[in-house]
Amino acid sequence: MKDTFKHKGMRNQLAQVVANKGIIDEKVLDGIRAIPRHLFMDSSFEAHAYQDKAFPIGADQTISQPYTVAFQTQLLEIKKGAKILEIGTGSGYQTAMLLELGAKVYSIERQKELFKRTSLFLPKLGYRPKRLIFGDGYKGLEEEAPFDGIVVTAGAPFVPKPLLAQLKIGGKLVIPVGENNKAQIMTLFVRTSEKEFTKKEFGEFRFVPMLENKN
Ligand code: SAH
Repeated sequence: MKDTFKHKGMRNQLAQVVANKGIIDEKVLDGIRAIPRHLFMDSSFEAHAYQDKAFPIGADQTISQPYTVAFQTQLLEIKKGAKILEIGTGSGYQTAMLLELGAKVYSIERQKELFKRTSLFLPKLGYRPKRLIFGDGYKGLEEEAPFDGIVVTAGAPFVPKPLLAQLKIGGKLVIPVGENNKAQIMTLFVRTSEKEFTKKEFGEFRFVPMLENKN
């Protein structure tokens, strides 16, 4: 596993590309400058690692596009020490971004193969989530709730009720909502009281589908 000045230079350029597309949160852009994305991908894709594109990571899954990771993270407005739940650990790139921002991270992955691989990989880079869980993200993580933020990194056909229920008052859920094989609408829910939520939509994105159960 090698990270070089050349890679760092490409990351600075990638951060600029993402900034030009409208990301203004400097901490998020610093995250892009810091995380060695090429190490999160199959080495055969290394040349593509610093393009603003999604790529396959095995088990029919993808590492999200950097702009998308930045967009979702920016919406969470993470403060240091915030307790964040991620649904869809995948390559661990989004997990690393949350950790770069000083969050305490819990992340659920339903594919055993990816769960195992990423559980071994992240600590090698010095990234230490509080917990990585092999499970079904539709259920959230009741025993660790409530959360300051929950981010879903797969396309959800509907908004799972447990995720809304596991937010603190003032907590945020960032979730791309829409059917498989269609674009999803990036949606932000903020819990304003025990029973009330505000909802705001942010346009179309494309994700691999959120599937039920474990695999
Ligand atoms: N955050 C990842 C994105 C990976 S793509 C990254 O930065 O690389 C979405 C991931 O969500 C896939 O790994 C997929 O297996 C996972 N996933 C799909 N449905 C899920 C569910 N119900 N619970 C947990 N993870 C799920």
